[in-house]
Amino acid sequence: MNKWIVAKFGGSSVKDAEAMLRCSNVVENNNDIRVVVISATQNTTNQLEFIARAGQRGDEDTLHSLINELIQRHSKIAHDLFSSEAVRKELDFLFDEIKFVGAEILKERHYTPKIMDQLYSLGERISSLLVSDLIRLRVPDRKVLFLDARNVIKTSSDFQKAEPQIDVIAEKARELVIPHLNAGGIVVTQGFIGKDLLGNTTTLGREGSDYSAALFGEAIDASLVQIWTDVAGIASSDPRLVKDAKFIPTLSYDEATALASLGAKVLFPTTLLPTKRKDIPVFVGSSIDPSLGGTTITKNQDQKFKLKAVSTLQKKEYAIVSFVGCHLDQAQDLVENLKNSFNDINVEFYDLTSVSVSFKIASADITNALLRAHEILVAKY
Ligand code: ASP
Ligand code: MG
Repeated sequence: MNKWIVAKFGGSSVKDAEAMLRCSNVVENNNDIRVVVISATQNTTNQLEFIARAGQRGDEDTLHSLINELIQRHSKIAHDLFSSEAVRKELDFLFDEIKFVGAEILKERHYTPKIMDQLYSLGERISSLLVSDLIRLRVPDRKVLFLDARNVIKTSSDFQKAEPQIDVIAEKARELVIPHLNAGGIVVTQGFIGKDLLGNTTTLGREGSDYSAALFGEAIDASLVQIWTDVAGIASSDPRLVKDAKFIPTLSYDEATALASLGAKVLFPTTLLPTKRKDIPVFVGSSIDPSLGGTTITKNQDQKFKLKAVSTLQKKEYAIVSFVGCHLDQAQDLVENLKNSFNDINVEFYDLTSVSVSFKIASADITNALLRAHEILVAKY
């Protein structure tokens, strides 16, 4: 294992010049951060979808106004960050590529997953260009390499849900990334995007930048993968629904995976596969205030299972309530608690993993179910 850290910054962490400066601060304050993975700026990926749809409808006005807004927004960031002349030129090329792809879609009145991936890629290519230039300016003593992630993240040709080719990625990282890190440099690159073996641009699926960071971590044998976002970690319940949800300091890979598959908005679902394979810890924290700390995910499972989080999933006729960080021995107790809490509502055992227990609650409204379960979490464990 190397000392190197991979730091990924999500869309909210790079939404404007100020946010990008905060990212740069995080990188400047830790000499071990050596690979920086950047998402598209907030909402840009959605906007690229709207552009494609406008083209498909033949709605030229909307298409142009969306493209113009995107160009204005990123040009303002370049202006606010005093981006170099070279970067502004490069930005213009990327803007031209958006116009070109937009015009293609408009002409065809149709877009394929393949052309959508080409269009998607521009969000990340633009934001990472801006951030790389900023970091270069702020750490003049380090060599900053702007890397096209597509030259490393080699994938299958399943556009919009491409499968990474782990061995090829490792080989490309040895060739294109590691020599630069060995020489003391920093690599700034994109999340989400890759290329298939024929050279077509692909993407890993919406929100896939977390996965990219983990793949880079695996390929360089990193000591840590950091996922920087706008909240200080993974919460014990959905903070939009539960006011006193707390951030969980530590989770095991299995607990975090269970939480993600049981309905919590945590990380892109496959993020923990590469890191688990190489036993690399994953940290989730807020670039708005890194001093708040965050959640660290490792292979360690607490010896005595500790109840850590609750989540809910709404199915058609019922809701699933899951307790994560608990063992089967606690299930009966949890059922009793839930039954008492729901009085007349039917609670049934639903599913079990090595780190979670789920119950089915007939016709319960989901917010209510989560609040009840959260009360049990706080009161009993
Ligand atoms: N920009 C992409 C998206 O919004 C990928 C990511 O940010 O994770 O889906
Ligand atoms: Mg995300």
